[in-house]
Amino acid sequence: MGVITGFLERLARRPVLFDGAMGSMLLAEALPPGAAPELWNTERPEVISRIHRAYLAAGAEVVTTNTFGGTLLRLSAYGLGARCVELNFAAVQRAMAARLEFRDRQVFVAGDIGPCGKFFPPVGDLAAAALTDSVKAQVEVFAAAGVDLLLIETMVDLREAEIVLRTARRLTDAPVAVTMTFDRKPRGYFTIMGHTPSEAVRRLTDAGADVVGANCTLAAEDMVELAEILVAASPVPVLVQPNAGQPEIVDGRAVYHVSPGQFAAAMKRILDLGVAAVGGCCGTTPEHIRAVAELISPGEHDGAG
Ligand SMILES: [Zn+2]
Repeated sequence: MGVITGFLERLARRPVLFDGAMGSMLLAEALPPGAAPELWNTERPEVISRIHRAYLAAGAEVVTTNTFGGTLLRLSAYGLGARCVELNFAAVQRAMAARLEFRDRQVFVAGDIGPCGKFFPPVGDLAAAALTDSVKAQVEVFAAAGVDLLLIETMVDLREAEIVLRTARRLTDAPVAVTMTFDRKPRGYFTIMGHTPSEAVRRLTDAGADVVGANCTLAAEDMVELAEILVAASPVPVLVQPNAGQPEIVDGRAVYHVSPGQFAAAMKRILDLGVAAVGGCCGTTPEHIRAVAELISPGEHDGAG
């Protein structure tokens, strides 16, 4: 391996490839619907490791911890609040162990932070102090374990995203990426709370985000125009992680229909716009990531790793 660089330095050089979905992969591995995916960090660690390895073998340069629901509030909703440190630490260990198997190249570990699952008044009864405590419990583990970056993702409420981001900033020097999830309406792109992409870019960069972007909800081809808006608005690098289409429920399971080739074709258009980092969200698999890796560095990702 060459000289070790930080994530942001690496990002400035050429596009960085994140991994793909974890949640939909776990459901495909028979995680019971309604179960906490973070529980498998300790109960089925071999499954988590296998998924990380598959993404790295496909050419991903960032491995994302299985901690989307690892905030204290979200784990508490499953009765797992007391295991917050244990489950988040086990997740980082799985990601770092997978990285050890790919020592011939640089791999970054991203500590994943999802939404807390509650809303501020008037929609819900979330309080800023409870949200801060909830994120602190998770980020302290990431900081102690030495992740390379934090990925705050699938946010719909900018107020929540700002509090999570500022809490993370206080607790670690690691770079922080924040991606919101937008739907496409006749009048443009909006989060379910009504925030526009340019408003998101402005408020998140004001709050200190090193990378901003969009993930989930939309298929890659529906994110091309969104990526254009984000790149035009953002003073910092942009990250885009689309879904493999809209899920169709078949036998009680979500099935995604966008093929790796179709996904990669849309991602090529997104990369051509100047997006700095790409990866996949719900329904994407190592094959989707491999197809994108072929675009970024052709011919390097044929082997099984
Ligand atoms: Zn998703």
